[in-house]
Amino acid sequence: MRSTNVLILGGGIIGLTAAFESAQRGHQVTLLEQGAFGGQATGAAAGMLAPFSEIGEDPDDFFNMCKKSLELYPEWQSTVKEISGSYFEYNRSGSLHVVFHEADELVLETRNSWQKKWGVSAEIVRGETLCKLEPHLTKEAIAAMYYPEEHHIFAPDYVKAVITGCKKLGVKLFDYCGSITFEENQENGVGVTTEKQGSFVAEQCIIANGAWTSFLEPELSMRVPIFPIRGQICAFELGMEKVHHMIFSSQGYVVAKENGSLICGASEDIAGYDNSVTDKGIQRLKKWSRRLYPFLQDKEPYHTWAGLRPATQDGFPLIGRLPHRPNIILSSGHYRNGILLSVVNAKIVADLLEQKTPIVPISQFDPMRFQ
Ligand SMILES: Cc1cc2nc3c(=O)[nH]c(=O)nc-3n(C[C@H](O)[C@H](O)[C@H](O)COP(=O)(O)OP(=O)(O)OC[C@H]3O[C@@H](n4cnc5c(N)ncnc54)[C@H](O)[C@@H]3O)c2cc1C
Repeated sequence: MRSTNVLILGGGIIGLTAAFESAQRGHQVTLLEQGAFGGQATGAAAGMLAPFSEIGEDPDDFFNMCKKSLELYPEWQSTVKEISGSYFEYNRSGSLHVVFHEADELVLETRNSWQKKWGVSAEIVRGETLCKLEPHLTKEAIAAMYYPEEHHIFAPDYVKAVITGCKKLGVKLFDYCGSITFEENQENGVGVTTEKQGSFVAEQCIIANGAWTSFLEPELSMRVPIFPIRGQICAFELGMEKVHHMIFSSQGYVVAKENGSLICGASEDIAGYDNSVTDKGIQRLKKWSRRLYPFLQDKEPYHTWAGLRPATQDGFPLIGRLPHRPNIILSSGHYRNGILLSVVNAKIVADLLEQKTPIVPISQFDPMRFQ
């Protein structure tokens, strides 16, 4: 049985960044992944860091946490690059949330007024200004909310860099562990046995199993209402035409990457743990992205894929220490914003490991709130 200070279950972006931050703070960390690192929701993500476009309703602790993560990104991504010695795209493109009907302009105005109070820099743009920002955007779009501070990253390369960074910081990483079971009656710690990589014991354990976290309900003796919502997504190859900003509409988004692809996403459908694409799902994406950018009319996506977002009953993640299993911290259910939240979440979890007050309020994300 191998022993460690901190054991992390789950090698998606939430588990990996928790490992990176904890190791940076001097903890001895071991991470166990049942399959491939970044092989689930994380590997499917478009990499948008866009809390203002994503959260249109009233502000709350969730909005605050997302905003904080966006603010932490510039320094975080440069630390990951420095420690790993790896490059990944981090693009401060800004975004445009476009509307097609006059009635929807009112929605933009309402959103603008509450977000301004939270210090969000935003502006409603129309006509020539909109056209200058995005020359190839459909002329059907009558207005847009321009968010200059929203960014995006290339998620697959970000994940690779965090993995390399973890290794350089001394994190012990085990992938393809197969099934993992908890040991009963482990005194002063947590013990697990894996199907393929042996057994481990740790003082503290972080659970970051994404959409699979509910499988641990019997072992954790609690309700964990996290379920998979499939996101289908596709990529076109861009030619001469350029897309400068992330573009959001009520029906989807497009984001251009420096490798020349235009990523168009994403569906939200319930399909259990099936992460295949469907013809219907991709047709819908094609229809909407072509409406936004008519030059896509003659193009077909060169790549289609899907992933399972970890959704929760109330839309908020479950983050916190379990009162009945005080050696266990839950960190799952980041739904549509796990790449964005990976930074602030890593800091929260590391604060919890050290019994510190978390960097942002987390009472709304109490993992026990569904009992
Ligand atoms: C199509 C799509 C587009 C998206 N776009 C964006 C975006 O633009 N911006 C953004 O912020 N977010 C986006 N997301 C959401 C984001 O991808 C997720 O919120 C995030 O990846 C969740 O990370 P995670 O580590 O919790 O889950 P996952 O990446 O699913 O990782 C969980 C891991 O745990 C492993 N696991 C499960 N059970 C066990 C166990 N018992 N022991 C060990 N390991 C286990 C799984 O194999 C998996 O690798 C998108 C998601 C999808 C599907």
